[in-house]
Amino acid sequence: MSTVPGTVLVIGAGGVSSVCVHKMAMNADIFGAIHLASRTKSKCDDIAASVKDRTGQDVATYEIDAEEVPAMVNLIRKIQPSLVVNLALPYQDLPIMDACLETGVSYLDTANYEPKDEAKFEYHWQWAYHDRFKDAGIMALLGSGFDPGVTSVFTMWLKKHKLKTIRQLDILDCNGGDHGQAFATNFNPEINIREITANARHWENGEFVETPPLSKKVEFDFEAVGPKNMYMMYHEELESLSKFIPELERARFWMTFGDEYIKHLTVLQNVGMTGIEPIKYQGKEIIPLQFLAAVLPKPETLGETTTGNTNIGCIATGEALDGSGEKTFYINNICSHEAAYEETGNQGVSYTTGVPAMIGSAMMLQGKWTGDGVFNMEQFDPDPFMEMLNAHGLPWNVKELDGPVEF
Ligand code: NDP
Repeated sequence: MSTVPGTVLVIGAGGVSSVCVHKMAMNADIFGAIHLASRTKSKCDDIAASVKDRTGQDVATYEIDAEEVPAMVNLIRKIQPSLVVNLALPYQDLPIMDACLETGVSYLDTANYEPKDEAKFEYHWQWAYHDRFKDAGIMALLGSGFDPGVTSVFTMWLKKHKLKTIRQLDILDCNGGDHGQAFATNFNPEINIREITANARHWENGEFVETPPLSKKVEFDFEAVGPKNMYMMYHEELESLSKFIPELERARFWMTFGDEYIKHLTVLQNVGMTGIEPIKYQGKEIIPLQFLAAVLPKPETLGETTTGNTNIGCIATGEALDGSGEKTFYINNICSHEAAYEETGNQGVSYTTGVPAMIGSAMMLQGKWTGDGVFNMEQFDPDPFMEMLNAHGLPWNVKELDGPVEF
């Protein structure tokens, strides 16, 4: 459809978008022209100025409310991209997918759809678009961030190269960074707090088992970070992994939080600031969590002060491919907040999401991952994606452990 090969339209201008657009500009052979549209145009202009400064590449900018499907359709028709990259919020997934369907353009995102009035993130709303995308001859790639995203690619790489079957899977997400603030979230505060305050759910013997939020805690010694408390949570890749790896007996997701973070979050919850039901304030309806998000530090402002590393990976146990019995492997990436900031002006959590969004986009534009319909990361060959992780700032490491995890 597009005039310049590799034309992309990126929606949203937060930390993840900033990293992704910088990385696209650094790969001008793949991304022929970059267009950036978001609710606040000045944020797009700031990203475009930084990209010009760092790479010499131009980024065209626009103002858009992505929930307005006709406006999105007009913008897509004007730009004629080969791909729309949705790095706004999960609430915008369905309207952007509608606009893609109407214009016949492929779609990518990093987080699955969530309705605003319910903290419930599930793939079924987006999977329901499969037949329409298939009939339109276009592709949607869901969840091309780190988790979801790389965690699924890591798991499928283990399944391709090390393990015939995967019996147990634990995804460990550690942010060992320190941003110097009393309380801040590393990606969109509203989405982050909705995710953390929701009930935990893990996959066990063919069904999801629900437990109260943050009720299961384990200490784990993370390489390049040190010992950290990690908490079991629900995360959306558990849904796609349990679908695409049917033999999985147990799959869990863990995320680290410091005591200070938990203390602040508990107080905010206790006083009702994390609620998503509208309340009346001075004659106006407001949603407490949205108000809280508005006063918390913006994730894209944390880069300058954040030090330390992230360490995200998967531990999988199953039958070895070479017939040597049951084996356990740990595959992970360590990312330095300072190095991420130096390269793109953003902290590591935005970096670890924005780079895989660029790589997923490259997979689609280069025809390495193809198909008509709606797809998850597990459905494609992990190898070309894994090669690009090594080449574009998120190198990974795999090692064999003595046995299955003991927690
Ligand atoms: P930010 O809040 O920093 O950025 C979101 C951007 O979307 C903002 O620029 C915002 O505009 C824009 N936006 C919001 N609503 C609309 C709308 N209606 N129309 C157009 N633009 C809109 O978030 P992050 O950059 O931290 O995160 C971006 C996405 O990445 C989120 O969906 C998040 O869930 C996902 N994510 C995924 C991860 C993964 O590993 N898979 C990890 C981390 C994040 P404005 O500037 O006006 O507010």
